[in-house]
Formats: sequence, structure tokens, C-alpha cells
Amino acid sequence: MKTVENNPSSLILLFGATGDLAKRKLYPSLYNLFKKGHLSDRFAVIGVARRLKDDEEFRNWVKDSVETYGEEIDHLNEFISHFYYQSHDVTESESYKQLKTLVDELDHTYQLQGNRIFYLAMSPEFFGTVAEHLKEDGLTDTKGFKRLVIEKPFGHNLESAIKLNKRIRNSFKEEEVYRIDHYLGKEMVQNIEVIRFANAVFEPLWNNRYISNIQITSSETLGVEERARYYDKSGAIRDMVQNHMLQMVALLAMEPPIRLTTKEIRSEKVKVLRALRPIEDHEVHNYFVRGQYGEGTINGISVPAYREEPNVPHDSNTETFVAGKFLIDNFRWAGVPFYIRTGKRMEKKSTNIIVQFKDIPMNLYYKNGSSLNPNLLVIHVQPEEGITLHLNVKKTGEVMETTPVTLNFSTKNIDGINTPEAYEKLLFDCLRGDATNFTHWDEVALSWRFVDKISEAWANEKADFPNYSAGSMGPKCADELLERDGFFWWPVHF
Ligand code: NAD
Repeated sequence: MKTVENNPSSLILLFGATGDLAKRKLYPSLYNLFKKGHLSDRFAVIGVARRLKDDEEFRNWVKDSVETYGEEIDHLNEFISHFYYQSHDVTESESYKQLKTLVDELDHTYQLQGNRIFYLAMSPEFFGTVAEHLKEDGLTDTKGFKRLVIEKPFGHNLESAIKLNKRIRNSFKEEEVYRIDHYLGKEMVQNIEVIRFANAVFEPLWNNRYISNIQITSSETLGVEERARYYDKSGAIRDMVQNHMLQMVALLAMEPPIRLTTKEIRSEKVKVLRALRPIEDHEVHNYFVRGQYGEGTINGISVPAYREEPNVPHDSNTETFVAGKFLIDNFRWAGVPFYIRTGKRMEKKSTNIIVQFKDIPMNLYYKNGSSLNPNLLVIHVQPEEGITLHLNVKKTGEVMETTPVTLNFSTKNIDGINTPEAYEKLLFDCLRGDATNFTHWDEVALSWRFVDKISEAWANEKADFPNYSAGSMGPKCADELLERDGFFWWPVHF
């Protein structure tokens, strides 16, 4: 890991400055960093996009974003005074020449020592083009640090990801590329390693002798909203499994790193991804199932089927739901299934991880067919944040019977404040030069290699869609996947 600085000076060039991501997440996150004193006076932001006219209009845009999505607004005018706008077409060299003039000017005004962060918050089709232009037009030629922050998706499959990576790597070194997976900025995802490696009660049990299976659910109630054009080409497997779900599997399954450095943690995660049991074409359906929502009701409101959403073809074969089983072929995990499921228009919005421990060898309290509940460790990622441990205790009274109880920890109850937004933490990490919570190329490549097998098999077979109602927890085949192994999905809220 590089030396990290807590109050670094930098110019942030935000490509896609008028986009949805910038408005909802990036400006409020930068504002929070500013309020907490994590941005020194020596910072400036250049917004690059096509829609607006000048600095004033841009500053009002940023102000509106912070007022709409931020909290406890104070010193907002001082904050927005650091923002500058460049109307720019990312495909034209001339735009970069003008941009360079502004960059040099701000570098001097704010004494930024040539430090530059290029944040690509725009359509992925431009990622390669912008990276190339930045070098060709001299913007990466700086005496300070230069870092490229790149949004998802990183490619559409392994082949396109390799091509994109080559283009990027002509302009930036691997350690200068910060590939965003915003799940890695979430408080409870970052907590996985602390829960595991800072507690004597968990780590000794964290293996195939004591854990029977692990279930990760990431369910949304929203449909495709305005993203249909992108989503219909991607589907849930590319949009969620290749990145977020596999990253959570890697964090849950990795060996303790020898040190908490970027290199050591990434190296352990890569080992997990290398140990994923490959799936042959003919057995894909034994490991992964897909779904697409039909019409249904969510929170009392009728919603249309996926195929009826605007900009979705009426015969779309795109999955809006995936459930799957990963097997990790190493000593620690041999025989323990890691199940994942993720989908849109599901009953509840929730991301959680359930670690199910094996049944104890003998039930001393067996009576009239009663069974003991297995111990469960639930990691609530969102919307709640915390952990719940499910145990069995004696039922109060004269008879010796058991009853399940839970021990709860909720970050909200303890801290009394909302934990920082993932983007706030990731932006701060990037400013400080800490790439631990960003995805290394090796992880991207291994994830695509695994996922490509599944999406290729699915592309060759017309699915029987729709196969789950909006407002449900997914199709029947997802339940059958676990039933075949003698398990079932634990409810997401209990
Ligand atoms: P968007 O379509 O809302 O915004 C695109 C931005 O790019 C706009 O500012 C537009 O002016 C600019 N732009 C488009 N063409 C341009 C050109 N030729 N030259 C200069 N500027 C141009 O997109 P978004 O939803 O903000 O998404 C941005 C990126 O973030 C995408 O890669 C997306 O996959 C990723 N992402 C978005 C979200 C989200 O919540 N919106 C979440 C995760 C990841």
C-alpha cells in the first residue's frame, strides 16, 4: 500500500458531471468529505459534460444536488466555489486541449502539485476513448499523482474487458486504475473482514467443519427504471453477479491476509476466485438459474412485467433475477456451497449474508419431533446495517426445552448517525491513494471468465419467461436449487 495522506490536495476531473450518478452520489459525497475537513483548501473539481454552459450554471447544479441529497448543509457556497465547468465532447481532441489549459491554470491557483484524479462517471462506451485522449492530449503528463476512477461495467465479457483494459493501461499503470465496485465501500461489506479476523469466536469455525452453507441475497424492489437500454443487454448476471456478488463471496471465503495491505488482501481474494469450481456448459442449469419478472404488486402498487417496461423488447430473453451456487475447491471450503441470489422487483429491498452453521452432532433436547434451529450469523448489509447471531437457549420455566434467540448489533443504534455513503469512503480512499477497496484487473478477469460460461449457455437457450411475479422472492427454480442440497433460503428479514 502506498503511504496514505489524510488531507491530500488534488484536482478532480469529473467526466459525466451532469449525469445521474454525479448528481445523486458524487457531489453529496464530496460535500461530506469537505464538511469533515477531509478535502484540504487545495482541491478543485472540473465538471466535464455537454449539457451546461458555464461555471455558474454548474455550481448551481452542484448546489441543487447537495441540497436535494445531502444532509446538514453548511458552508455550501464555499464548497461550490471550488467547482469549474468545461463543456466538452469526449470524442474530440480539441476539447482536451481546452481542458488542459484550465487544468494548468487551476493547478497553479490551488497549488495542486500536479495531482489529478480522472473520474469517468459516464457511459462505458467512452472509457477507452477518454483514457487514450488523456494521454495523447497531455493531461496525464504531470509531476503529481494521476489516478483513473472507472465506473462499472468494466467490459461486457472477458474479451471486451481485456480490450478495454489494454486501452486503459496504455495511459495508466495498474496501480493508478481505481475500478469502482461500490459494494466494497459499504460499511458492512468492509466489516466482513473485521468480523472474521478480529473475533476469536468466528475464525476457528469459519470452514467446512462447522459451516454448512452461506447464502447471499441482494434483492431490489425497483425495476429497470431509466436504465432499460443498458440493462437489457446486461442482465442480472453481468450487472450484479460478475462484480458485487463475487466480491462478497471472495471476502467471505478468503484466507486471513498476512497484513492489511492492498496487495495482500487482493492476493487472497484472487486465490478464492481462482479456486471457484469451473462449470461445464452442460451443467450450468445445475448451478445457476435465471428469472424475469412478470407483472405483480409491490407495496400495494401494481407494476408491469419487465417486457412491458419502456425500451424493453417484448420478447426480451434478459434475466432480471439470478440464483446460483459457487463451490470453492480448497481445503477450507471443499463441500460448502455459497449460494447467491439477486433480482429486481422482488418482495423486499435487502442485501444480507447468512452463514449457516452445521447442526450439532446430537440433539439432547429432542422432544416430540422438535428440532434445534441451526446457529446463524446474519450480516445485514442494507438497508439495515449490523449483525445478528441466532442461538438456542433454555425456554424459561420448569421444563428443559429450548427456544431460539437473537443477539443483535446495529450500527445505527450504536453510532446514532448514518454511516457514510459508500461513494464517500471510496472517493476518500482514492484521494489518499488507497486502492484496497477497488477491484484489481486480476479479479475482473477471473470473474468474467466464470460468468461468461453461464451467460454464453443462457444466450443459446430461450428461457421460459416471465417466471416470477413482481413482488415475490424470485422463481421456483431458485428454491429448488437449494432443496436439491437439503437447504432452503432463509427469509431476508427475521
Ligand atoms: P448518465 O447517462 O446519467 O450521465 C452521462 C453523463 O455523460 C452526462 O453528464 C452527459 O452529459 C455525459 N456525456 C455523454 N456523452 C458525452 C460526450 N460525448 N462528451 C462529454 N460528456 C458526455 O449516466 P449515469 O447514470 O450517471 O452513469 C454513469 C456511469 O456510472 C455509468 O458507467 C454507469 O454504469 C455507472 N453507474 C451509475 C449508477 C447510477 O446510480 N446512476 C450506479 C452505478 C454505476
